[in-house]
Amino acid sequence: MTSRSKSRSATKAAKPRRNASNSAVSRRQPSSTSSVDATIDDLCSFLDQSPTAHHVVATAARRLLDAGFVWFDNASELPDFTGRVVKGFVTRGGALIAFVTSARSNDKFRIVGAHTDSPGLHLKSNPEGVAVNFGTLEVEVYGSPLLNSWLDRDLDIAGHVVKGDGGVALFRSASPVARLPQLAIHLDRGVNENGVVLDKHAHLRPVWSTGDDIIPVHAVAAHLAGVSLEDVATTHSQLVDHEPARLLGADASLVASGRLDNQLSCWAAVDAIAKLSGNDGVAVIALFDHEEVGSDSTTGAGGPMLEHLLERIAESLGKSRGEYLTMLPKSSCLSCDNAHAVHPNYQERHDHKHAPLINQGVALKTNSNQRYATSASSAVAFLAACDSANVGHQVFFSRNNMPCGSTIGPITATRLGIDTVDVGVPQLSMHSAREVCGVSDAADLPKIARAFLRG
Ligand code: ZN
Repeated sequence: MTSRSKSRSATKAAKPRRNASNSAVSRRQPSSTSSVDATIDDLCSFLDQSPTAHHVVATAARRLLDAGFVWFDNASELPDFTGRVVKGFVTRGGALIAFVTSARSNDKFRIVGAHTDSPGLHLKSNPEGVAVNFGTLEVEVYGSPLLNSWLDRDLDIAGHVVKGDGGVALFRSASPVARLPQLAIHLDRGVNENGVVLDKHAHLRPVWSTGDDIIPVHAVAAHLAGVSLEDVATTHSQLVDHEPARLLGADASLVASGRLDNQLSCWAAVDAIAKLSGNDGVAVIALFDHEEVGSDSTTGAGGPMLEHLLERIAESLGKSRGEYLTMLPKSSCLSCDNAHAVHPNYQERHDHKHAPLINQGVALKTNSNQRYATSASSAVAFLAACDSANVGHQVFFSRNNMPCGSTIGPITATRLGIDTVDVGVPQLSMHSAREVCGVSDAADLPKIARAFLRG
C-alpha cells in the first residue's frame, strides 16, 4: 500500500514489489527490457494464433512438437517410460495435457493448470437469417461476456469443421466478416445515462451480408478450413475480434488483446514446460476447456481427462495403483487464471489492502470459502517458485460484499486431492472482447510456472 500513488513503468523491472504481507520486496535479478520485449512478442503471437480453444490446443501442440515433445494418442496405451525422461502430450478437443518425466525422482506430480476457453459469441447451427436487407447470424452467448464490448467491432469467424471420418480442421477468416452495430444515439437518447441494455436474443444478431443472397456459414467454414463441402459433417464457429494483440500505453507497459483470460496462462504454461529441464517429479501442464461454463465436460477440469492421464503416466513409469495413489498427496498444482486488477475509476469495488495492481506482480488468490483452492500450506510452493524465479507477487482477496469468481483450482483439488494454489496475472476489462494486462506481470508468469514445475 505504501507506494500505490507512485507512477510505475512496466519495463523498469528493478523496483519494489509487494509481498504477501504487503511490504515491499526487491527483484534481485531484473529482466532486461529486450528479453521482456521478446517474451511479450511471443505472447502476442500465441494470442493471435489462437482465436478459439481448439486453436489454443493447436498452437500449444506446435510449440511442444518444436520443443521435442511426442504427441501421444489420448485413446491409446502409453509406452513404457521406465528409466527414461519422456516429454509428451495428449489432446482432446479444446484440452491439452503435457508432461515431462524426471531423471531423478518421479514420486509426485507438479501441475500447472489453466483454461483454453474465453467468453464470447458462438454461432448456432444453421445461423443464417434475414432482417430487412441484411443477412444476419444467430449466436449463442458462451459464458459471461461483457456484451457491450462486442458492439461495433469488426469480427472474424473462427472455429473447426468435423469431417465425416472424424477428422477435424480449424479455420479463421483473414478479414472481418461480421459486426454487431450499436443503435445510433439519436434512436436511444438515454444510453449514456442508462447504459447499454441488450436483449441477448433480439439484439445480438450480427450483420453478415447485405442483399438477398444467403451465404451459408458451413460453406464459408469449409472453404476457410480447406475441406471440400461434401466432406464436412458438422461445424462449430464463433466470432472473434479482428484486432491483433498489441502493446498499449504511453510507456508501452500494457498488453491489449482478446482472450487474455485465460490464454495468457496457457501461453505461460506451454512456455514453462517447453523450456523445462532438471525437474524433480513429473511436471505436468493441464489446459482445460469449458471453465467459463462450469468445467463439467469431457475436456473440462470437472471431467476425468487429467485424472486418467496421471494414472496412465504412473503406470508407464512402472508404478502400481497403490503407488500412484500415494503420489497424489505429495503432489501440488499451480492453478493459473487472471485476477481483477484495481480499476482506476472504480477503486471502491476492491479491498484496497488485498487488491492487485497492474505491473506489480502475479497475484496469489485466496478465498476461505474455497472459491479459490489456496491454503496457507499450498501457497508455500508458489512463494518458493517466485523466490526461485526472482520475481515479486501480490495478494488478492475480494471485498466481502463483492463475491469473487472461481477457477479450475478448487475443481482439480477436489477431483485429485492435490494441494492447489490459485494465482493469476492482474488484468482490467475481464470478459471483455478486448482485455488489458501489464507487460511485466505477463513476463513473470512463465518464470514462476517453470520454477514451480521444476520442483
Ligand atoms: Zn479465467
